[in-house]
Amino acid sequence: MSEEKKNELKELREKLFFTPKTAFDEGFDFTGCDSFCEGYKEYLDCGKTERMCVEKSVRLAEMAGFVPYSRGMSLKPGDKIYKVNRKKAVILAVIGEEPLCSGVNIAAAHIDSPRIDLKQSPLYESDGLALFKTHYYGGIKKYQWPAIPLELHGVVALKNGEVRTVSVGSDASDPVFVITDLLPHLGKDQMSKKAGEVITGEGLNVLCGSRPIDGADEKDTDAVKLNIMRILNEKYGITEEDFLSAELCVVPAFRARDIGFDRSLIGAYGHDDRVCAYPSLRAIIDTALPKRTAVCMLADKEEIGSEGVSGMKSRFFDTFIEDICSSFDTSVRECFENSSCLSTDVTVAMDPNFPEVCEKKNTAYLNRGVALCKYTGARGKSGSSDASAELIASLRALFDKNKVLWQMGSLGKVDQGGGGTVAMYMAERNIDTIDAGVPVLSMHSPFETVAKSDVFMTYKAICAFYKEF
Ligand code: MN
Ligand code: MN
Repeated sequence: MSEEKKNELKELREKLFFTPKTAFDEGFDFTGCDSFCEGYKEYLDCGKTERMCVEKSVRLAEMAGFVPYSRGMSLKPGDKIYKVNRKKAVILAVIGEEPLCSGVNIAAAHIDSPRIDLKQSPLYESDGLALFKTHYYGGIKKYQWPAIPLELHGVVALKNGEVRTVSVGSDASDPVFVITDLLPHLGKDQMSKKAGEVITGEGLNVLCGSRPIDGADEKDTDAVKLNIMRILNEKYGITEEDFLSAELCVVPAFRARDIGFDRSLIGAYGHDDRVCAYPSLRAIIDTALPKRTAVCMLADKEEIGSEGVSGMKSRFFDTFIEDICSSFDTSVRECFENSSCLSTDVTVAMDPNFPEVCEKKNTAYLNRGVALCKYTGARGKSGSSDASAELIASLRALFDKNKVLWQMGSLGKVDQGGGGTVAMYMAERNIDTIDAGVPVLSMHSPFETVAKSDVFMTYKAICAFYKEF
């Protein structure tokens, strides 16, 4: 082949073929990426539950001038408001220059993560040990949770209306908790079981003490349990009955850490979906006077199907938008039909240890930026909202113009499994919606991994979306 012909074909390839870009290609600005991720790591360490994420998010928002919204409040462009839903979800908005009838730009993430909840009557004693009965929350591989240090967080609501906050294990001087596992020496039967049966749901009991109460003799039953209740009563003023109105959970007692010699990755519990919640929050905090009103929704209960009063199916969201619409004499129906939503949630990243579950050409990779997913779902896209071609085209244009590194992802090979996000519940409201978020390794495990460059590009993508979509 002649030199001339070779060059001609090379040019033709460059013109016609699609080559995904990476964080190491020219044209992308990562100034501020690492310090952004330090802020994210701090958010993770303070935000081990949805309630803790709400508190931290409100603190950050108030520092940036956001004020609590109350119904009927007069609003003008540039105003920064937020509203908390039952301490478990929060919505923030920056009022734009255009009227609300022209729609709002929404980033919707979730701040609940898979975890292990204590049952309503949790405490018992067995063979001289005190333990908590649990019921896991969200999709976990149960075998990943024994033999790792666990923190305990949550609230106990008392009959007199007081709510006691419990938080044990995040301070280095705190004790932690653990679910025990079987020694391999006696694991003959266990090791021949299927992975899903190795640890059962009722086997996820959390060890929380072993010392009997002072003065007990060996004939006394439940002396260890009594000692634990004594400690809890002294510290929180609670009795065993108060567990009935408590929300307590255990989560991994790991701090967010850099991974790799090059510190390019972050390992932590709860990236799904705080790794999109934090960029969404920071983007709205950094949005001054958008054209369209910017809205950031940090929802609860996504991991169990967006159900309940604090999940994305709740009318809380509609009520808030309706309230701000009424300040401008606009109907929420008109607002929704002109609105757009990035369902900012994580997706699977190509894992060299498990390449067989992802299809190379249509999966997200670490360090290739924010990942759009046209659809999620399972078995022929069932349970997915399937974003429109037109929406994707306008986002391609927006991201390219703003030098946002982005990629297209999908949740594994066809018929390999599947999943969902809040996208379908936003789309049901007559809002154009697409999934966009950070690719994750070891998703739903106690210690998930993401790339810093992708976290930062997700933030830049949402900033661009708020600013000029
Ligand atoms: Mn998620
Ligand atoms: Mn999830």
